[in-house]
Amino acid sequence: MISGTLEILIKLQDLEHMLEELNSPEYLNILKESSGLSDEEAREKIQKSVESLKEDIKGLKETLPKDIVKKYDRLIKRYGRAVVPVVNETCLNCFSHIPTSFLTKSGELVECPNCGAFLYLPIPEKEKKS
Ligand SMILES: [Zn+2]
Repeated sequence: MISGTLEILIKLQDLEHMLEELNSPEYLNILKESSGLSDEEAREKIQKSVESLKEDIKGLKETLPKDIVKKYDRLIKRYGRAVVPVVNETCLNCFSHIPTSFLTKSGELVECPNCGAFLYLPIPEKEKKS
């Protein structure tokens, strides 16, 4: 159940980053160039995608406990990210040292003791395929 929460948080953050990309002027230019749409048509198309993404984000947030959503929103506002990987025992948000023992409480949602970000251990490349 809790590891499911982490998966949802990661997915949520992905969607949030997609939303940022959609709103960037670069994306509008790329879309216009690749599709041959007019400025207005391209903007309209992006607007539709933005709306559907926002719906997805809202739907995902509704599946999470309110206090977690609150923390998540605060982290996104402050750092632009809420769920960060731990690499070489280091939180990739604030770069403080995270002992491995801190993370091996299997299934528990773990927060960085320094910055409060939700932490996860990235799956090593070789294990991804199976
Ligand atoms: Zn941290």
